[in-house]
Amino acid sequence: MSGARLAGAPVAIVGGGYAGMAAAVTLAAAGRTVHVLEAGRRLGGRARATDLQDLTLDNGQHILIGAYAETLRLIDTVWGTRQNARRTHPGYLRLPFELSMAGEAPLRAWPLPAPFHLLGALLGARTLPLRERLAAIRFIRQMQRCRFRLPEDASVGALLARHGQLGKIAEILWEPLCVAALNTPVPSASARVFLTVLRDGLAGHRTACDLILPRVDLSALFPDRAAQYVAARGGEVSVSTPVRRIEAVDGAFRILCDRQTVTASHVILAVPPYRMPGLAATLPGMDEAIGGVRALSFEPIYTIYLQYAPSVHLPRPMLGFVGSPIHWLFDRAHTGPHPGLLAAVISARGAHETLDHETLAGLVHREIATHLGGLPQPRWHKVIAEKRATFSCTVGVRRPAQETGLPRFYLAGDYTAGEYPGTLEAAVRSGVQCAHHALND
Ligand SMILES: Cc1cc2nc3c(=O)[nH]c(=O)nc-3n(C[C@H](O)[C@H](O)[C@H](O)COP(=O)(O)OP(=O)(O)OC[C@H]3O[C@@H](n4cnc5c(N)ncnc54)[C@H](O)[C@@H]3O)c2cc1C
Repeated sequence: MSGARLAGAPVAIVGGGYAGMAAAVTLAAAGRTVHVLEAGRRLGGRARATDLQDLTLDNGQHILIGAYAETLRLIDTVWGTRQNARRTHPGYLRLPFELSMAGEAPLRAWPLPAPFHLLGALLGARTLPLRERLAAIRFIRQMQRCRFRLPEDASVGALLARHGQLGKIAEILWEPLCVAALNTPVPSASARVFLTVLRDGLAGHRTACDLILPRVDLSALFPDRAAQYVAARGGEVSVSTPVRRIEAVDGAFRILCDRQTVTASHVILAVPPYRMPGLAATLPGMDEAIGGVRALSFEPIYTIYLQYAPSVHLPRPMLGFVGSPIHWLFDRAHTGPHPGLLAAVISARGAHETLDHETLAGLVHREIATHLGGLPQPRWHKVIAEKRATFSCTVGVRRPAQETGLPRFYLAGDYTAGEYPGTLEAAVRSGVQCAHHALND
């Protein structure tokens, strides 16, 4: 292909999840033409809208934090809003950090500059023994001194034990935070990655630990608006267009779909890790990246929606559980027109995976009833099991780089190299990074 034709060819982005759409917005903003090819009917991938019982809900409850700087920046770009201009964004609810665990006093950030906002939260948690609260403050200060870095990775369990973070503080603070952020159980979760989340979330600016809950579905929060943003700048977004094969031809790429073939100057492959080898295996220079992906393992996330009578209500949008099959319970009435709709979340692997959906929903209902008391039977329920929700963020986990052995062919996705665990922020950062590589070529 001639240089002139190659220069006019778009950057092809395969996969319209948060990573792919972040790449698309970044390239479109810089004046590059992009063509996004998405297999599904809807954009968003593992964070997408799902229709249930006449309602538009999500494939899983997602929560963001104030430290998700790139995700929030790009949400602002596509919504035309300004971050922090108001605490309540049209797309999400932004709340000061508060960890409410069933039966425990909530840990609430104090309205003070960092780090006093969190020291206050710990000191105010009166159901925790004073000795544990002081030990937690010492732990955070020690981690600050070593800049939240470890010379060698270890498990979160080992890190907590080494710093005397056992007992109730582990149960109601560190373990729920670890499983929520890394989707990996404490005994095998990477302490290095956990400390990055603590560094940015808990020890960063006061608003970095803010909890951000979408008020619109996850496709509407970013990917759908990103598609409009791209289209307004001459780009194209094709849904229901699975890519079957990618060929490297004469310094360009041919992307073969069922009804069309796209010629592109660059490819950003933004599919989930378990789909990557199938599309990259026939290309040269991909052995290392494919080897890296094949070494990853995955963790599930189950979401159990239960529709109760509208009078059923939690005082706060989310409630954590300790020693229970459920990890978190969300009251969707706080974030949308869904009175009586509760969403229970079970992260990572566990015994719940052996239960059929009917039994699991019954178990979750009884668990909620024990805590809330006097609950009627739900009107309907739905279990959504995302079996490979994220990669297992284990000790020493190695993630493939965005740059591959093939020039102008990049990998984007939450599983690619980065400081963050498998999250929206990891996906978005990787997409932005790939876009910058393509722009710099
Ligand atoms: C239930 C659940 C709860 C979660 N909770 C949180 C949370 O609270 N906070 C948080 O930050 N993160 C959370 N995550 C993780 C977060 O959703 C992911 O990290 C993120 O969505 C990954 O985005 P991605 O773009 O890397 O990949 P994906 O979202 O998987 O996007 C890849 C896209 O590629 C498409 N694709 C695949 N094959 C092809 C093909 N052949 N041709 C074209 N397109 C193709 C797919 O359809 C998909 O749209 C959760 C995940 C799940 C499943």
